[in-house]
Amino acid sequence: MERGSTNRDVRLTNRKVVVNTLFHSEPMTKQDLVIKTGLSLPTINYILKDLTAQGLITQGEKLDSSGGRPASYIQPVFDSGYSIGINVSENCVRIAMSDLAPKLLSKDKSPMAFEDTKEYWTAVNSLLKQFIAKNSVNPSKLLGISLSLTSAITLHEEKASYFNNQRIDQLDLVQVRNYFDHDITITNSSKMAGFAQAWGAMETEDIVYLTMNETIGGAIMSKRDVLNFSSKNAMFGHMSIEKDGRKCSCGKKGCLDAYCSTRALTGLSGTTLDEFFEGVDTGNPAYQAILEDYLIHLAVGINDIRVIFDTDIVIGGEMSTYLQRYIERLQELLREMNPFGDPGTYARIGKYGEYDSSVGAGLVHNNRRLSS
Ligand SMILES: [Zn+2]
Repeated sequence: MERGSTNRDVRLTNRKVVVNTLFHSEPMTKQDLVIKTGLSLPTINYILKDLTAQGLITQGEKLDSSGGRPASYIQPVFDSGYSIGINVSENCVRIAMSDLAPKLLSKDKSPMAFEDTKEYWTAVNSLLKQFIAKNSVNPSKLLGISLSLTSAITLHEEKASYFNNQRIDQLDLVQVRNYFDHDITITNSSKMAGFAQAWGAMETEDIVYLTMNETIGGAIMSKRDVLNFSSKNAMFGHMSIEKDGRKCSCGKKGCLDAYCSTRALTGLSGTTLDEFFEGVDTGNPAYQAILEDYLIHLAVGINDIRVIFDTDIVIGGEMSTYLQRYIERLQELLREMNPFGDPGTYARIGKYGEYDSSVGAGLVHNNRRLSS
């Protein structure tokens, strides 16, 4: 025990260990839990009683595969609480509702150009209210609502800085919250998107998460937690991959963002992403050449990240939906570039796609529920 820690600290730590083990694994017996956590049976019993009283776990029975007596196992009640996350990006508002798993239960997307005006935020508030009504959300189960801003570079209690056409603008978060009828927590989208991805990843405890939208962000995840060296770390979109290359939204040249953001692709093709990928599928040679060039630049960026972190790299965001079908080509390029002979399969597509930042935003409330 650390000096100064109290019995209460120890109890909270033990509870966190039990909750993390239960909510990140298949249902297990009490004995499994003792083995996995290293805690004593009386401690486990005490915590399980508390979690049952809170409605977070229930008991079930699972048939023994060897034909013996059915074993009693502990089942997390994932649908005992829901959270809602709103992600506002340059051209779109995405709202998602997820449970404690977190499983994406409902989603909605509305094309809407971002602007920091009363009209815009009032419209987002209306979308949220429609979403809540449409999904008949039970207020007693709603843990909270969060908002995330895709191009935020720093986020404090009262102000956020974000990229806006080669300028860094300030957003008054107190004012933004005032436009909503519900209490809104404001989070960093990339970091929380990474958190959503890492939450259920038992097998891969350390990952780098790349969220690819109009701009590219990311998160470095270790043991399911975000590594925050500074507010600007993991802004992978602004890694320099071409000296004196294309102009980037940050005002500099040659950043990954200028080659691999959705904005870069739609800017080059002069089409929407749907139209562009339809063109690729129907054999448009100009679009196919653009895509190949896109994948090469993306591979350069991902290869650099791999060399630094040597972890799996998970791709999320709007672009991940389209890249799903070209992941093998990307992996081939990565394998060719890797200096250590690593297979390119270390890069893969994340599970929440374009809703990653929305699901991730809601996790703040899931965490609060599970740790209180
Ligand atoms: Zn840049």
